[in-house]
Amino acid sequence: MEDLTTRITFLGTSSAVPEVGSDTASMLINDRILVDTGWKVTENLRKLSIEPTSIEHLVFTHFHQDHYLSLPSLLFYILMKKKDLRGLKIVGPKRDLELTINRTLEFLNQGRYIVKAGKPELIPLEAGESYETSEFRLETCGTIHPVPGLCYRFTDNNSGAVISFTGDTAYHPPIAEFVRGSKLLVHEAALGPGAGDPSNNESLHSGAQDAARIAVAAGVEQLLLIHGPHARVNGCVEAARKIFNGDILWPKEGQTVQIHK
Ligand SMILES: [Zn+2]
Ligand SMILES: [Zn+2]
Repeated sequence: MEDLTTRITFLGTSSAVPEVGSDTASMLINDRILVDTGWKVTENLRKLSIEPTSIEHLVFTHFHQDHYLSLPSLLFYILMKKKDLRGLKIVGPKRDLELTINRTLEFLNQGRYIVKAGKPELIPLEAGESYETSEFRLETCGTIHPVPGLCYRFTDNNSGAVISFTGDTAYHPPIAEFVRGSKLLVHEAALGPGAGDPSNNESLHSGAQDAARIAVAAGVEQLLLIHGPHARVNGCVEAARKIFNGDILWPKEGQTVQIHK
């Protein structure tokens, strides 16, 4: 039967150094597509009764450490359970994808004890390139961040729903144009409630007001804010509400949001 909803489950919505019991921004689409890993992805998935070996695609927004730190433990888990990495497809910004995955495999010393485990399949993307399977389509646009990053526009071929997620980025108006037509936008708000000051934004992140301005310009229905400490959540949602009239949520960790077309 046709599945008419798209599910996004938030594994982490916290900062680069998350609070105890929390994790850095990472999420799961339809239980099988993982976006970034955070610090402890295998534990996050198992806590939700999702078997880590069932992940078919791993999509990286960029390769800052807090977004891929638990990649070794995820690959090790798959090696221990399935003894084969070939079923996993990893998508990410071209410049850093191969480098990071190869270093991870070296770190794991895979060949010492599981010689035939193979390698994951890599799908390197540059801004503007896309990737499609029978189940979904991923389109990309560039972000403004210290390392190459991709904002993704995800179309669920089963439900028809379109959702977008920015990854880490400073305020970048072309993102609004790119995500137009999405029902839901997941936007980082690492700088807290205000807008980023372009003359003092070395880390190149956004504030909740920046995210809200992008949501208004894009015409999305729902704005999900992520990537900040718990203490700032209410302030961020209130600040965004002054700009954006649609639905605003800072998802709790473990929370699932369902979208219909
Ligand atoms: Zn980050
Ligand atoms: Zn980053």
